Amino acid sequence: MRRIGIMGGTFNPIHNGHLAIAERAREQFLLEKVMFLPSGVPYMKNLREVLPVSVRCEMTSLAIADIPYFELSEMEASDAETRKNTYTFETLEKLRQLDPEAQYYFILGADSLQTIEHWKNPRLIFQDCIILAAVRWEKGSSEENAKKLLDRQILYLQEKFGAVIEILKFQGIDISSTKLREKIQMGESVHNLMPEAVENYILTHHLYEKSTD
Ligand code: ATP
Ligand code: MG
Repeated sequence: MRRIGIMGGTFNPIHNGHLAIAERAREQFLLEKVMFLPSGVPYMKNLREVLPVSVRCEMTSLAIADIPYFELSEMEASDAETRKNTYTFETLEKLRQLDPEAQYYFILGADSLQTIEHWKNPRLIFQDCIILAAVRWEKGSSEENAKKLLDRQILYLQEKFGAVIEILKFQGIDISSTKLREKIQMGESVHNLMPEAVENYILTHHLYEKSTD
């Protein structure tokens, strides 16, 4: 059976945290590839802050260009044309039609696992894939605590939905797109927090320099 990783996100912008959990997932679960899906209309975010999906796809493409088993999918990106919200359960349905035999692994960070039951049709999401969850914590906060919260949430979702959830062996990387956008706006360096090609693209096109507030 083909084992395929799904890495969904806004990728506004993509950063080393995304790449790190995708890579851990691939190694640990022997995935043949990981598909990166920039979401067309990430309706749970402040849409004013989100750059056009074509730009987020371009940055994602640059970030994974040198990695043969990472692949960009514009499947969710097309929602932007019709302004239709992007829903993970629909993405999984489409993927299932494309490859009925594949085992899909949906890769996410602990913060997403905290909100996933409020996404549309969570039962369908849990039915259709194995969830791979990575711990997420910020410098200065307790790593132990973050791990405990993640364990508790996994038990809760297993009991309530019969979800299949595995933990990624991942130390945690303190990077978020929000912090990167703030840094860029303040003129601070984002070197080593994202692939150089993405950094150069952002600098060249003067992305994220203006506040949207
Ligand atoms: P934002 O700050 O704008 O929300 P983000 O850094 O959380 O951006 P998203 O595009 O929202 O990035 O995240 C896509 C997925 O990657 C989510 O499941 C999120 O939990 C996960 N993720 C992002 N950064 C990390 C990280 N540093 N460690 C673990 N998981 C992460
Ligand atoms: Mg996020």
